Amino acid sequence: MNNIQDYLNSGTVDIAPLLSLVLKKSNVELITQSDYQLSPIEKQTLDAMIKQRTDGIPFSYISGTKGFYHLDFKVTPDTLIPRPETELLIDIALDLLPKNQPCQLLDMGTGSGIIAVTLADKNPHWTVTATDYSAGALEVAKSNATTQIEFLQGSWLAPVAGQTFDLIISNPPYIEEEDSYLDDLTHEPITALTAGKDGLDDIRIIINEAPNHLTKGGYLLLEHGHDQQARIVKLLSKKFTNIQTFQDYNAKDRAVLAQVN
Ligand code: GLN
Repeated sequence: MNNIQDYLNSGTVDIAPLLSLVLKKSNVELITQSDYQLSPIEKQTLDAMIKQRTDGIPFSYISGTKGFYHLDFKVTPDTLIPRPETELLIDIALDLLPKNQPCQLLDMGTGSGIIAVTLADKNPHWTVTATDYSAGALEVAKSNATTQIEFLQGSWLAPVAGQTFDLIISNPPYIEEEDSYLDDLTHEPITALTAGKDGLDDIRIIINEAPNHLTKGGYLLLEHGHDQQARIVKLLSKKFTNIQTFQDYNAKDRAVLAQVN
């Protein structure tokens, strides 16, 4: 294989984005310049990436970035690759609180930082704190910040002892630990994906502890699995009020918002 067309014809998974990445050409340029001959170094780089991709490494770990909302985020194997459904949490948060008023926001289990960084970037008047248990993930999140954010290491609410927030958001791990869907996700950090037998171990901790860290009338916003909404509403109903449920853009139950009593 020597020119772009040969590679496009190869049927290799993600071949067009891999070509774009190596040759720094747009999709349109790949088509209009399809007889372009790759240099030996370009061929070597591309062939190494094709090998990684066919070995199952996700494209975003090869390119090192993933777009989310209006920004591009660095991602590494220390972080989950951002999912488009998590953009729902951003839309809900942006609708919830006035843009020009101060707000203390906490994003727990921030991973690559998508929730904290996107909301801080959109709302310059908000004070944003982001936590993660993983030091590696926090380093990535810090590198993605576009504004001042406080990053703290630790599990769920442990790093913010004594602090309160107007809005606490999390996209926690929520997959059942025996779920066969995990067979497709072997390159991503398992601690960012699973939470016990029913996938709710971390969500239970968050729902129990969040009321101690919310201001009066403060909100908790959580992403969850498509079949967990009713159980989460039940868990919330002890200490929360105004519980609202949301579907993602694929019409799957995906998020809950609740206000502390
Ligand atoms: N949404 C992820 C997935 O479906 C699961 C983990 C998470 O985002 N909390 O792969």
